[in-house]
Amino acid sequence: MRNATPVPIACDLFIGGRWTASETGRHIDVLDPSTEKTIGSVADATPADALRAVDAAAQAADGWAATAPRQRSEILRRCYELMVRDADALASLISRENGKALCDAKAEVLYAAEFFRWFAEEAVRIQGDIGMAPGGASRIVVQYQPVGVALLITPWNFPAAMATRKIAPALAAGCTCILKPATETPLTAYAVVRLLAEAGVPDGVVNVITSSTASKVSNAILEDRRVRKLSFTGSTEVGRILLRKAADAVINCSMELGGNAPFVVFDDADIDAAIDGAMVAKMRNGGEACTAANRFYVQRAVAAEFAQRLASRMGDLVVGDGVDPRTQCGPLVNAAAVAKVGALVDDAVRKGARILAGGRALERDGHFYLPTVLTDVPPDADLLGEEIFGPVAPVVVFDREEEAIALANATEYGLVAYVFTRDLARGLRVSERIESGMVALNRGLVSDPAAPFGGVKQSGLGREGAHHGMLEFMEAKYISVAW
Ligand code: NAP
Repeated sequence: MRNATPVPIACDLFIGGRWTASETGRHIDVLDPSTEKTIGSVADATPADALRAVDAAAQAADGWAATAPRQRSEILRRCYELMVRDADALASLISRENGKALCDAKAEVLYAAEFFRWFAEEAVRIQGDIGMAPGGASRIVVQYQPVGVALLITPWNFPAAMATRKIAPALAAGCTCILKPATETPLTAYAVVRLLAEAGVPDGVVNVITSSTASKVSNAILEDRRVRKLSFTGSTEVGRILLRKAADAVINCSMELGGNAPFVVFDDADIDAAIDGAMVAKMRNGGEACTAANRFYVQRAVAAEFAQRLASRMGDLVVGDGVDPRTQCGPLVNAAAVAKVGALVDDAVRKGARILAGGRALERDGHFYLPTVLTDVPPDADLLGEEIFGPVAPVVVFDREEEAIALANATEYGLVAYVFTRDLARGLRVSERIESGMVALNRGLVSDPAAPFGGVKQSGLGREGAHHGMLEFMEAKYISVAW
């Protein structure tokens, strides 16, 4: 690996294969959450700029859909290779604009690259069906076709992986797209699209726009009837707004929304494995992950030991600037995130929770909150009902299996759950009854490009990754044939 990608300091919009200024010439500053200093800027698109991106994507659509799957596959494979080649430079860019520890950023880049490798392999496996109609008069032929121009909207917490998890299946399916990354972390998206151009992605197939008025530019795009797909990752609140908007144009939607993951530890669990799993499930990205364990339910016999050992591991983490290679926990993304986490911890403590580790913001430049473990957390504490999105682990004791399942399901979210037990029958039984799109059984991580990622309830609609991820960008065409 080498540091080949130049860090883009000032980025224009990327439309139709060209770097182009926004209509107004205005830029948005990008800040480093470790230092609060400006590290770059990106063009600030208007609705008119957004429609130029739709023009480019629409013009490229037929050509890309008609490109042989093998050729699409080979371009995607090159995207994978280039991302791996530039992994160090991309990781450092992610650390700088998002704040996450370099080790997390490096892991993200490799995970993000894997979507290109996986969907390079899926691009040549677009299959259909053929069958006899029950009445015997015709054959039912079903083939899958690209849905068309797609709007991809991504959050700041995984600036590379959330983009590639959408771009790769869109391109594999034969769709062209417009990516609108989060304003907090837009530089990574532009660095990735540079690599896509180098890999041979034709002009107009992937366009990137950034804007300080996300709703105005996305509304303009969604009102354009040439756009046929919306793939969104972000908060449930914004997901609802976009679903309403997409309803007006009857646009095909995929929604990867918020989570409130339970982490259930039974008293027969391998506690070493549960602690290791908890550190990954809670602290990957400093807790700023939709999959982050948000509520720890631990059976009474092992609860005190689990909480103490977790507090000791959390308390030992090295907190510091994201780009410092010694750092294990970087800053939160901005001041509002620190204020939110602080308010949730204070609320729990006011209602009776005890602090075993952390429990406060760090007094220095940047947006730091100490890794925190709380115990004796009362049921009405706000942080059990809300996505914490920070390095805070609330521990709650339970007695019976039924109780653990009820607690785990007492949320409007349903993205992922973690279960630790040595009894596989119990593990599978509980996994089946927890209302979530994904369960990690005796593991602290579910994310895998080869697996269907997604939630139920208020955590979303549709799946990303696996073969499912490509079908989200395709529509079934049924041809009734008399032959
Ligand atoms: P967010 O506020 O919902 O923003 C996500 C994206 O939507 C950003 O690009 C944002 O642009 C844009 N946006 C905001 N308001 C919009 C509007 N009215 N119309 C159109 N676009 C709009 O979420 P976030 O704070 O970036 O990310 C954290 C959330 O994402 C958490 O809830 C987390 O659980 C969720 N998430 C889910 C998954 C998953 O796979 N389920 C993965 C990662 C994150 P601006 O940045 O310009 O506001």
